[in-house]
Amino acid sequence: MTQVPATSNHNGESLVNEPVEPKSSEPSPAAVPEHAEIDAADWSPRKVLRWAYRKYEDEIAIASAFGVEGIVLIDMAAQVRPQPHVFVLETSFLFPETYRLIEQVESRYGISVQRVLPSLSPEEQARAHGEELWSRDPDLCCHLRKVEPLRRHLAHLRAWVTSIRRDQTQHRAQTRKVEWNPRFGVMKINPLADWSRERVWQYIRERKLPYNPLQDRNYPSIGCVQCTRPVNPGEDPRAGRWPGFPKTECGLHTPESDTPLR
Ligand code: SF4
Repeated sequence: MTQVPATSNHNGESLVNEPVEPKSSEPSPAAVPEHAEIDAADWSPRKVLRWAYRKYEDEIAIASAFGVEGIVLIDMAAQVRPQPHVFVLETSFLFPETYRLIEQVESRYGISVQRVLPSLSPEEQARAHGEELWSRDPDLCCHLRKVEPLRRHLAHLRAWVTSIRRDQTQHRAQTRKVEWNPRFGVMKINPLADWSRERVWQYIRERKLPYNPLQDRNYPSIGCVQCTRPVNPGEDPRAGRWPGFPKTECGLHTPESDTPLR
């Protein structure tokens, strides 16, 4: 397993493909109170990450579902902090292609992606809540397999880096790049908040980054196998999630996030 140097990828290509911004415009991390939201609206993703890693040091982690945004974020974070802590909410129901992509990313960046598991195995969940809970109550299933494991994992951290973008869903439209998340009791860092899907793909292509092959088979948003279908031409990229339900979020980034969980 080869660790990628901070300034080049495994091909020796330069990773510095965005203008270098002066550090003088950043508030000193030490001077910013623990839960203060700062005005990072004009900051590039790399600048947000650089500031956040200085502020939160080893108590910050990237949560990734290994969509294209997550891959971009990991690539940028690896330039700021070699071998960043990355974790995935391992529901036990991810696509085989996703599991293979995780291994590819681990190899490329010399990291070990932490698999954060639910407290119930699929069999235990079926015994406790009935077979195929996702087909009857996907909110409860997502709570058990994603929200609760995330809460448990974030309890050990001060900052949570996400790859959400404002134009993905209505719930994400007000996302700030650095914001306090009262539900999980951490700072939420959203470096890609103002990026478009096109900009994300531009970065993927420029950097020749790996991505989930399902993307090329009309799966623009990929979650668990049971709850993801390919989209039809013209459909919203997230239309393939939770088919048959009016659900567009797994519950990690919704307004209910204002209800403290700990
Ligand atoms: S996406 Fe579906 S299977 Fe996965 S945790 Fe949510 S409801 Fe359950």
